Amino acid sequence: MKTDYRTIKVELNQGVATLKLNNPPVNQLSKPFVEEIKDALINAFRDDGVKAVILTGTEKNFIAGADITEIQQFKEKNDILPFVMENNKLLNSIEQGPKPVIAALNGNCLGGGLEIAMACHYRIAAQGIQVGQPEVQIGLIPGAGGTQRLPRLVGLPDGLTMIATGQPISAEEGLKKGCIDEVVVPGSLLEKALEAAQGFISGKLNHKERMTRLRKDKLPNFLMKKGIISFAKNEAEKKGKGYIAPFKAIEAMERGLSDDFDADLKIEAELFSDCAVSDVAKNLIGIFLNTRAAGRLPRIKGIEPQKIKTVAMLGGGTMGSGIVNLLLSNGFHAILWDINDEAIQKGVSAIRKTYDFPIKKGKMTQEQLDRMLKERLITTTSLEELGRSDLIIEAVLEDMKIKQGIWKQLEGICRLEVIFGTNTSALPITEMASVLKDPGRMIGLHFFNPAERMQLLEIICGKKTSDQTLATSVAFGRAIRKVPIVVNDGPGFYVSRQLGALLGESTFMVGEGVDAALIEEAILDFGLPMGPATLGDLTGLDINYHVIKNFERNLGERWAISPIYELVYQTGCYGRKTGAGWFDYSGEKPVPNPKVEEVIKKYLKEIGIKPQKVSHKEIVDRMLARAINEAALMIEEGICDRPQDMDLAVIYGLGYPPYRGGILRYADAWGVRNVYEHLSKLEQQYGVRFKPAPLLKEMAESGRTFYGS
Ligand code: NAD
Repeated sequence: MKTDYRTIKVELNQGVATLKLNNPPVNQLSKPFVEEIKDALINAFRDDGVKAVILTGTEKNFIAGADITEIQQFKEKNDILPFVMENNKLLNSIEQGPKPVIAALNGNCLGGGLEIAMACHYRIAAQGIQVGQPEVQIGLIPGAGGTQRLPRLVGLPDGLTMIATGQPISAEEGLKKGCIDEVVVPGSLLEKALEAAQGFISGKLNHKERMTRLRKDKLPNFLMKKGIISFAKNEAEKKGKGYIAPFKAIEAMERGLSDDFDADLKIEAELFSDCAVSDVAKNLIGIFLNTRAAGRLPRIKGIEPQKIKTVAMLGGGTMGSGIVNLLLSNGFHAILWDINDEAIQKGVSAIRKTYDFPIKKGKMTQEQLDRMLKERLITTTSLEELGRSDLIIEAVLEDMKIKQGIWKQLEGICRLEVIFGTNTSALPITEMASVLKDPGRMIGLHFFNPAERMQLLEIICGKKTSDQTLATSVAFGRAIRKVPIVVNDGPGFYVSRQLGALLGESTFMVGEGVDAALIEEAILDFGLPMGPATLGDLTGLDINYHVIKNFERNLGERWAISPIYELVYQTGCYGRKTGAGWFDYSGEKPVPNPKVEEVIKKYLKEIGIKPQKVSHKEIVDRMLARAINEAALMIEEGICDRPQDMDLAVIYGLGYPPYRGGILRYADAWGVRNVYEHLSKLEQQYGVRFKPAPLLKEMAESGRTFYGS
């Protein structure tokens, strides 16, 4: 039997050929890897000494899905179809092959991995691994029979849920549902797989009878199918606005699952191809790949990050408590410092509260939480005790003098290489670091509220932040499972300034007679989770007011606050925390705040403006034009230089709809020249706020795009 493969180790034992897949780092299905699997299977099938085959992976990986960069290259549906059908051929040759094939799932079995496993005749899994079809998360559907084989094994309702949401399940759940035949302790996986193989060889099991394509016992009858599909469509409508794949996945099961399995596969391949060439899939695949690459900057290439074990947290308030949750949940030792015992007590109960959700969901027990706090959390009111930390994160009051005072003291206490990370929302990092003998050790670590849940970590370099400090901060960001986006110091850094530019136009429009409720609607319709008024009420109109004033001071006339914002601010209605802002929260449901409505009415009357009707598109185009322009200005100013990271930041930090790919992807799709022309028109109408950035002018003239080709 042929054994010399680059990515497969072949072993023959008691008539059973074990094919150990080993294509580092995660056994991803790429073209050359699939070719080797095909060849190894053909050889095993041809060899008379082989009576059964075991397919398994190496270390923690079985097969982690397909190499999506291969799919990304296809532009036309007709080009992708033959590629998909070719993969189906391989799976069919396993399923309908001459010998039993056992999938021994040593690690997570997702996407193409599960599809291959389902084409095998027996699936045996190590405890605790995950199985699933997560393709919809990158805008695709399973393309190698997943939509047709999974429902045959687990039934249509579970198949629909797993495929249309993309959420994986544990092997144990898979056993209950039917896509896994046996779950065993990891150490005995291969031994048990051999036993299963012997079951086939002895005739106890029959692989011809165990072909998934033949299974019908779990499929519903015509009427039941109609009901189940209609329910799934309703669910998808509720959650899947803007997406394509969940609907295509449902369609594949609606039109498929027939008596003609090969025809079903063709339907799936067509629908897969529709998804693969869609802009939505391209955007989602881009986000997936860019997320993996976030923080991998040339500037820190080759720099070994420092080892971080113990992290000190200054302040256990709203942000500090969430950050301590992150530290403990990701295996770090934490020292919580606060100003007095009362603040410490408040902090510790706030930390405990951040675990309410996982405890309620059964992901953690109260005892586990108690033990974790006892073993890995220390509290203190003495800065001296922070001397043994490897990293200090500060989230105390937003006051430059207070923060600088603490850092100066810590400089005398901590080892020289200890990094100082500040979670300030807006104070300049360079200025904060200026009190230190070594300003290179200071960096901005900007978490978003709630810190334990928001995926973005905005990392801000001051003028003198060292490469070593940056490299360690990026590695730390990954270790606490955040998406680290690196930017340079400047007013509002990147994210707050981008948000201000995106939503700031809304109050100007209100001042021209556009209904605030219509703006909320247009923005929700566009796909953002909240309209500007709702978001303003949540963060506090007073806080936002000071943020804009800060921009006005530092960035000039372009950022002058709108007359309406000024008037609404003066009502003293600052949002939810005062019971009313744009909305009044005193009743059961928020309603427009009459006080604010009155102020707007009076203003419009005084300057003689009538209510005006505008379309959602006009609203969105105007807000996005300003946002794109600000992004271009920030690139010019050197705040940020990687469009893909800027887009990740708005997706993970501001809830910008992922299927739209980000603000700069949107600009490219709109056409930079069109954006530039739209801005020029708006500038004539409304003035300097819309003055196009020189970079946009240059791009419009040269035809350059943000993402390049
Ligand atoms: P908070 O009011 O909830 O907590 C403030 C912390 O500072 C408390 O632990 C308090 O005991 C401590 N403190 C009070 N007086 C102090 C003093 N004189 N010296 C030292 N510490 C003192 O505030 P927060 O919302 O957690 O914000 C903390 C930092 O994080 C601020 O810099 C803020 O700008 C920033 N931030 C906040 C958010 C947010 O949404 N809340 C988001 C990002 C960044």
